[in-house]
Amino acid sequence: MSDLRELYQEVILDHNKNPRNFHKLDNANHSAEGYNPLCGDQLTVFVKTDGTTIQDLSFEGHGCAISKASASLMTSILKGKSTEDAFKLFDKFHHMVTGEMGSEPDAELGKLAVFAGVCEFPSRVKCASLAWHTLKSAISSGEQVSTEGDDL
Ligand code: ZN
Repeated sequence: MSDLRELYQEVILDHNKNPRNFHKLDNANHSAEGYNPLCGDQLTVFVKTDGTTIQDLSFEGHGCAISKASASLMTSILKGKSTEDAFKLFDKFHHMVTGEMGSEPDAELGKLAVFAGVCEFPSRVKCASLAWHTLKSAISSGEQVSTEGDDL
């Protein structure tokens, strides 16, 4: 288990250092800003969608390693997926980081399983889920979101 932990940590550090899709998306038709006041994480998520499929997405901002790695992994995994699948994956991800899923992460989460350990650190749950909340907001309304007062 500790080997697995180390591997997870490596993936998070790598994505924090070399975030994927870390730029403004010029042809985005949806975007939203997310802010986690507990940690100071601030993200903008850009999405290009035809209404059913996420054709492209990216993010910008600054924050802790967890929030940045989570946004980086999210943007790499969701590209080309349907918005419906993205929301389903968000539910699973949320269950995992809040510890509601038991010890074995859902296979569909794939690489996102690196955040399974987050459930042991409740204050980090908002860091890990910020990008997802922001994406959801971008797709559904495009308004600014804050995790403050949100029942995560
Ligand atoms: Zn954070």
